[in-house]
Amino acid sequence: MRKLLFKSGLVFFGLFVFITASHAYLFPHDTRNMLIDFYDFEKDGSIYYRSGVDPAVIEELKEILPLAEERIKGLYGDKISNPKIIYCATDEYYLKFGVPILTPACARIKIGTYMVISKDGLDLDIIAHELAHVELYERIGLLNTVMDMQAWFDEGLAMQVDYRDYYSEETLRSKTNNLETLPEVQAMKNYQQFGAGTKEQVKLNYMTARYHISKWYTPEKLESFLESINEGSTLEESFVIK
Ligand SMILES: [Zn+2]
Repeated sequence: MRKLLFKSGLVFFGLFVFITASHAYLFPHDTRNMLIDFYDFEKDGSIYYRSGVDPAVIEELKEILPLAEERIKGLYGDKISNPKIIYCATDEYYLKFGVPILTPACARIKIGTYMVISKDGLDLDIIAHELAHVELYERIGLLNTVMDMQAWFDEGLAMQVDYRDYYSEETLRSKTNNLETLPEVQAMKNYQQFGAGTKEQVKLNYMTARYHISKWYTPEKLESFLESINEGSTLEESFVIK
């Protein structure tokens, strides 16, 4: 009996090591985020940063966060997510903990939620945008995020709290012959398709997604949408209800 227990324990441990190693290999950034407490980072509340970062920068981040959170409460009615926030003062660290290309910031869910901010991401619009992603992921969970979320909806919703002028309806109208030549963002089923093309094309995708969600959004519709997704419906089914 003891031998059997030992053997099954060994199998379980081997499986655990295999899954952990596979995850680290396939998703290195996610893994580093999940293990952030084991890296040499300072911690201030939910904010992580390397020692040597200018304290004024962390103070600035701490001033921006509650303002961004207010926008999340405005969009969702409340804020339930509490991501670990990893600030990377250098490109090297952002590429290691954020995403493999330089962007201002990123958000993800795995075991817990994470927001990684680069030195170019210290901005209320950008941080509110990423927090909106995190809030969505928290509310629908990892499985629904992976299985059902589509870039145009995810980005369009996040853009509702991102007030950068460039993405306004006015700009969109000027670039699409008064909305006649909108890109078909709802046909772009994955994030790669949504993010493909020139910088201008990608920006157009973002402002189009923002436009579609702005015409759809009410707090009640968003609530019904989230309920529907959490009950197992697809994004398409959940988007058209009510
Ligand atoms: Zn985004």
